Amino acid sequence: MTLENLTKEQFIRDFKDTLHEEQLIKVPAATPAELFTTLAKVIRKYYTDSWLERNRKLSEEQQKIAYYFSIEFLPGRMLETNLLNLGILDLVKAGFADLDVDFEAVKNAEHDMALGNGGLGRLAAAFMDSLATTGYPGFGNGLRYKYGLFKQRIVDGYQVELPDSWFGSIGNVWEVRKDHDVVDIKLFGDVYLAIDENGKFSPVYKDAQVLRAVPYDVPQIGFENGNINNLRLWDVEIPEEYELNYPTLADRRAVQDITAILYPDDSNYEGKQLRLVQEYFMTSAGLQTIIKSYLKQGLPLENIHEKVSVHINDTHPAVAPAEFMRLLVDEYGLEWDAAWSTTVQTMSYTNHTILSEALEKWDAGLFKKVLPRVYQIILEIDNRFVAGLAQEGRDADLIERTRIVKNGQIHMANLAIIGGHSVNGVAKLHTELLKEDTLHDFYVLYPEKFNNKTNGIVQRRWTQIAAPELSAAIDETIGKEWRKDIHQLKKLEAFADDDAVLANFYQVKQEAKARLAKYILETTGVEVSTDAIFDVQVKRLHAYKRQLLNVLHIIKLYWDLKDNPDKDMVPRVFIFGAKAAPGYHFAKSVIKLINELANLINNDASLQSKLKVVFLENYNVSLAELIVPAANVSEQISTASKEASGTSNMKFMMTGAITLATLDGANIEIKDECGDDNIVIFGLTKDEVYDHYAKHDYYSRGVYENNPVLKRVVDTFINGTIPNSQSEGSEIYDALITQNDEYFLLADFDAYVSAQERIDSLYRDQRTWSRMSLMNIATSGKFTSDDTITEYAEEIWNLKK
Ligand SMILES: *Cc1c(COP(=O)(O)O)cnc(C)c1O
Repeated sequence: MTLENLTKEQFIRDFKDTLHEEQLIKVPAATPAELFTTLAKVIRKYYTDSWLERNRKLSEEQQKIAYYFSIEFLPGRMLETNLLNLGILDLVKAGFADLDVDFEAVKNAEHDMALGNGGLGRLAAAFMDSLATTGYPGFGNGLRYKYGLFKQRIVDGYQVELPDSWFGSIGNVWEVRKDHDVVDIKLFGDVYLAIDENGKFSPVYKDAQVLRAVPYDVPQIGFENGNINNLRLWDVEIPEEYELNYPTLADRRAVQDITAILYPDDSNYEGKQLRLVQEYFMTSAGLQTIIKSYLKQGLPLENIHEKVSVHINDTHPAVAPAEFMRLLVDEYGLEWDAAWSTTVQTMSYTNHTILSEALEKWDAGLFKKVLPRVYQIILEIDNRFVAGLAQEGRDADLIERTRIVKNGQIHMANLAIIGGHSVNGVAKLHTELLKEDTLHDFYVLYPEKFNNKTNGIVQRRWTQIAAPELSAAIDETIGKEWRKDIHQLKKLEAFADDDAVLANFYQVKQEAKARLAKYILETTGVEVSTDAIFDVQVKRLHAYKRQLLNVLHIIKLYWDLKDNPDKDMVPRVFIFGAKAAPGYHFAKSVIKLINELANLINNDASLQSKLKVVFLENYNVSLAELIVPAANVSEQISTASKEASGTSNMKFMMTGAITLATLDGANIEIKDECGDDNIVIFGLTKDEVYDHYAKHDYYSRGVYENNPVLKRVVDTFINGTIPNSQSEGSEIYDALITQNDEYFLLADFDAYVSAQERIDSLYRDQRTWSRMSLMNIATSGKFTSDDTITEYAEEIWNLKK
């Protein structure tokens, strides 16, 4: 079935037939979930031939394939993306209108696929879409968690976590189980070396646990090009022949635990055994099938890097070089040197953060217990690395700092760097920091391995899907070409002084705000006016992201209004969305405090609705699609140097919000694109932050005591003004004052307040604001993940379309 010939009438017939056959029900009686499942089945039929054809072609043409290993993928809902990319979104919507079916309700019946925490997982999902869209052969490799990122509820202002049983009653309608690609995974036990029949040393496994890895492939459909790639997610099962080893239900559950849950930590890691098992499980399973499918081509294993790239997304799959060596040397009999040479040329690694608490280090004892043979191989890699550097006459301290195993810990980033040919950061500033600071020693050793790949976003999801009114306005202004080529947005610049166009875009933003206002009213009971500035900070809750700085400013406005109810200000609605890692006490206290502050402010009639605060629960991709197009202000206020890139900053820019930002991560590149006049920048620079570190001259209590406005704001946390938040308030006060304000909130307070005053004055002039907004949209094309992935494909993986 070629989709170019699909008519609305044919679609309606296909839909009805499928519904009748599969659900034994007629359209008017069907629930949204039944309609959704049916629609998914119909479109699966439409794309199955292309999917088969793509897989056949790739193996026939012996093209080089990149495999993107990531412990997280955060696609959100897939229905609209799949329809849009197949080119039948409008047709299906029209068909549903004829059938009198509410498309929105059907769309909402799909559960978010939330197998990721935040930016890192969302990036991995964006890359899947962009690989298919650009046409490069690239597959994802991850885990099929039964429970995704927890569902967040707010009860009495506190975050409560509930399991995200995303399979629900529908299951994952897109996936296909691939039984012919199952592989076995060995864990635990003892390993010793014995001489085999060929006179070679080979490992003998004693008492190892053997598990089966079963792949489920999720199609990744390219935008209007018929390309379909695979996102392969692994699940665990007990092999039939080992069933006797698991006599009790508890034994079986312990195995199922391996793919039961996604660890809910963002920019942090827990050194838990189960997490190590997860990491190894998906890495080994992926590498085993990659080698098998490569060997089917009849090519020599020592050249596998010519046909295969393995990308290590953050350190979670960083065991890959060692596991690849194990497979090549132990299982396939390659000599060490040949195996090492092809391993290094196959592997590449992305670093996502400079926060030390996020750099994985495994306890060597634990690692040895779980992966005894891989542990031996890591020791061998490390010994050869150290000996090689010593032979070159390198400094002994440098060798000690860069080696993989030291002080009883295995440093996974070191393994990924030593075992691969490429290391990239995710924004210009971040890559510079890696080179000059975090990974400086490795930069001295291997300058040629380092490169930058600034993150990107799937523009189609954030414009065509999330912002249909905006997309229509762009069509009216510059035609529809931009839908295929996002760089065409530049043409909007020519309309920056066109009053009619500016008014149209203003109107579009008002419509998106009205939709969000309705949702806010329905979910929180808070009434907000679309005449107010919608000031948005949505992202994981983390001290370095400084939601608390936003709070300090809100409290300042609160006191301003209490002192002077007639204060001349544009009304503001501050909108938050954020999940805190369940074990992150401080982050949860900030959530509680925001909610109590919201209660105080939203119920104070004396403020005359000039100030509103809203915390929207369960921030996820679908909620982002509602919030992002409705924002006037995009809060990107991390301590300079701490946010590697950020990607929500790009989503907001592309949909016409003005960025209020520190010079951190990709904010710097956003400023370079949109120009100084179309962004509001404030605060310490990375050099100033590093200067404070070097001189140890930051003293937050001094700042607090010398600034009466700030002092009054900070004292608000502990003087009973904000009800029901005594312990949270004093925890926050302590962090800011007693513990010397690790993230420089007080240092940036005055600059932030001034920047906010600038926002207020800019917004008063609708024309000026609309012009800035349009210029942001016009210059946002640089941040398409289609271009980011093209750079990975050409500069790191060496792929052909
Ligand atoms: C884009 C996105 C993120 C990343 O946000 P940052 O502000 O860049 O940290 C996190 N979560 C969701 C659901 C997103 O869509």
